[in-house]
Amino acid sequence: MGESSLKAINPVLDIEKIRSDFPVLNRKIHDSPLVYLDTAASAQRPLKVIETVVDFYRNYNANIHRGVHTLSQEATAAYEQSREKIARFINAPSSQEVVFTRGTTESINLVAHSFLRPKLQPGDEILISWMEHHSNIVPWQLLCEETGAVLKVIPMNQHGELEMAALEEMLTERVKLLGIVHVSNALGTINPVEDICTLAGRLGVPVLVDGAQAMPHQSVDVQTLGCDFYCFSGHKMYGPTGIGALWGRSRHLHSMKPYQGGGEMIRHVTFEKSEFNEAPAKFEAGTPNIAGAIGMGAAVDYLRDIGMENVAAYEAGLLAYGTERLAKIDGFRMVGTATKKAGVMSFVLADIHANDVGTLVDLHGVAIRTGHHCAMPVVQFYGLPATARASLGIYNTFSDIDILADALEKVTGMFA
Ligand code: PMP
Repeated sequence: MGESSLKAINPVLDIEKIRSDFPVLNRKIHDSPLVYLDTAASAQRPLKVIETVVDFYRNYNANIHRGVHTLSQEATAAYEQSREKIARFINAPSSQEVVFTRGTTESINLVAHSFLRPKLQPGDEILISWMEHHSNIVPWQLLCEETGAVLKVIPMNQHGELEMAALEEMLTERVKLLGIVHVSNALGTINPVEDICTLAGRLGVPVLVDGAQAMPHQSVDVQTLGCDFYCFSGHKMYGPTGIGALWGRSRHLHSMKPYQGGGEMIRHVTFEKSEFNEAPAKFEAGTPNIAGAIGMGAAVDYLRDIGMENVAAYEAGLLAYGTERLAKIDGFRMVGTATKKAGVMSFVLADIHANDVGTLVDLHGVAIRTGHHCAMPVVQFYGLPATARASLGIYNTFSDIDILADALEKVTGMFA
């Protein structure tokens, strides 16, 4: 398909309207308009989210759940409505299965400590994949050190796709949990989570899905996926930082011990013994990030209004165009060429260090990420010290990709 026909696949979003929702896009960086291609690290926030957070602090700021006064009741209602919005967004059977956390990292640690740790015996196995973010590696390593369990890694091929045959072989009764990233932040690969859950389900192996990068790009239905836990972060999906969620099957949440002790998670306390609340309160000790949770609900509203199918279709067009356009640059090599990919383009440019690439394109107003993307085993797999990564969001345009490509061409020119 030619460039112009790829650009024509743009029927679904009112992109100018969307761009006007993001005030930061009016910024100039080194005298050039900002081209933000770092959504995988953290998305920008639309006015709706910013104003929702400001409205909370201006008009009904109060602690939740405990107060009888009006502000506290309003804050509690907004916090709980947000939980309901998130539950509907991922098609959770009940909002009581949605636990607010600080983000994906905390959600995974919560499952590691409260769900898995009490079950592990020496020799048990935890299965993860080669393309995990550190947050879906390190918590399991720590557990293995403590319990004598063993961490096993499902290999991937050169395209950055999981070796499904190996996964099937490694999936045995010894495996006590399989942790898998839905969309890789370093490669863009979309993993076949539904198939993986079916395979694991046959042996009764619980599956935790790291959904940090899937939530902003596609619709997620935890019931269709068939997983046991789904973890995500507000800031990757156009919401505030410091907030995220864990969805877990109610039977798991019910049987799990609390993660932290404190206020809010208890029903009754004496010095002899405490009785815990039911989930999700059981896992939300202390005053939570109330403004963040309410802001995350606003981000969900924003994405729902646009429609995740539209987001996915629009970004697929951008990705196809970007893949073709960038391939024309001398010395450009895409890292991560899976057939099923979301809007992440990791690459190397000749033998120029990724940090130099990132610093030089910033001079043209282009924000990309460079480094190991908190997925060191991925860059090690390709024998690279680092990659540069342009990642897409709903506000990006074909012109953003052209500007990136022009900037990269200037960089190669400097090193020629
Ligand atoms: N998993 C993936 C795939 C990610 O991209 C990230 C963030 N880069 C995380 C987990 C961790 O998310 P957070 O820092 O919001 O906890």
